[in-house]
Amino acid sequence: MEPNVIVGGGVSGLLIARVLQEKNLSFVGFEKSARLGGRGEVGSHRILKPNTVALLTEFVPEVSWLTTEAEVQERVKGEFTPIRDGYSEAEKFYLTSAPYIPTAPFDQILEKLAAPVQERFHYQKTVTQIHGDTKTIEFSDGTEQKFEKLFWCSDLSLLFKLWVGEPLRAPKANKKAADMPSGVNLTFDLESPLFESKNTVVLPFRFKDFKLRALGIPDLNEDGLPHRLQCMIFLPKELMEDREEVAKCVRTLKRELLKEFPELTQKTKREKIVYLPVLSGEETAQWASLEIAPDIYYLGPQIYLHEDQAEWKNLDLLVSNVSHLRSKEFQPAS
Ligand SMILES: Cc1cc2nc3c(=O)[nH]c(=O)nc-3n(C[C@H](O)[C@H](O)[C@H](O)COP(=O)(O)OP(=O)(O)OC[C@H]3O[C@@H](n4cnc5c(N)ncnc54)[C@H](O)[C@@H]3O)c2cc1C
Repeated sequence: MEPNVIVGGGVSGLLIARVLQEKNLSFVGFEKSARLGGRGEVGSHRILKPNTVALLTEFVPEVSWLTTEAEVQERVKGEFTPIRDGYSEAEKFYLTSAPYIPTAPFDQILEKLAAPVQERFHYQKTVTQIHGDTKTIEFSDGTEQKFEKLFWCSDLSLLFKLWVGEPLRAPKANKKAADMPSGVNLTFDLESPLFESKNTVVLPFRFKDFKLRALGIPDLNEDGLPHRLQCMIFLPKELMEDREEVAKCVRTLKRELLKEFPELTQKTKREKIVYLPVLSGEETAQWASLEIAPDIYYLGPQIYLHEDQAEWKNLDLLVSNVSHLRSKEFQPAS
């Protein structure tokens, strides 16, 4: 029996691991993949709340943060001109918010966050069932783990799906996954930046009858140099449902980029495509407590405790949830 068990090694799982370690509580973590970081691994993230920066700085004091006054820009035929209107809610977040930008690559922040706790995680362990009555989780490899307290740091609907026991009362979602933007994130690691702008740049292109836009987000590479470009595309549902169409769409974007920046191929050291069913938002719901069932805590960005947090972005929300739990007294389980 391990008193405290964490499932999921993304930002939520890593933060709660650091909190438990700080409280001198014994714990073990389980992560489905071979790596820690979860969706945080896509790289550049926008953080809007000073409290989020404060908590991350406590755990990773080596990194400092800058705020920027974001400017909305659009690349049209080689010129940068402001977009006045006509962008979606999802795009608006990337185009209009003035975020805190870390002075180190986001992956490095995750690595430093993970370093003191990574040995406590077991990798390639996928939870397939949670027995609420016997406080046991089962894994896909047939093994089991008993827990006293469970910190669920993965998708909330998965917790409900894997749960066996007294039915859990589902939170009433404020936003449905179906309403969330989805798409693709295409990242280029480059020899040197493609353009000078530090802000999000809009790269418009056409694919069949769709008038699409990729948001070009300049980012730091693992050496801390501004040599990484993320191209994020929010795609209409009809496109997203067909992987071949998505692949064609990405190829079209690359062709358009090459027209604008013929040096792209030569400059590219590495390219990564991440297909994201739900790109950067989750269903969110207000909940009275982070304790979903006795001794089962959910820490991620799908639950907010206060009405005024309903519109907060993911990292701000999950950090607020972790801070909430950090302020509580935890009795080590006997
Ligand atoms: C392209 C992109 C851009 C984004 N930009 C922003 C931004 O600018 N600002 C912002 O605030 N947020 C942003 N987000 C959202 C943010 O990254 C996520 O909300 C956050 O990383 C979620 O962290 P998490 O730890 O709660 O979940 P996750 O990162 O999803 O971690 C869950 C972990 O659980 C593991 N897991 C899943 N199932 C199981 C299982 N059955 N057993 C064991 N382990 C399991 C997964 O492998 C994963 O490692 C963005 C997301 C994406 C994809």
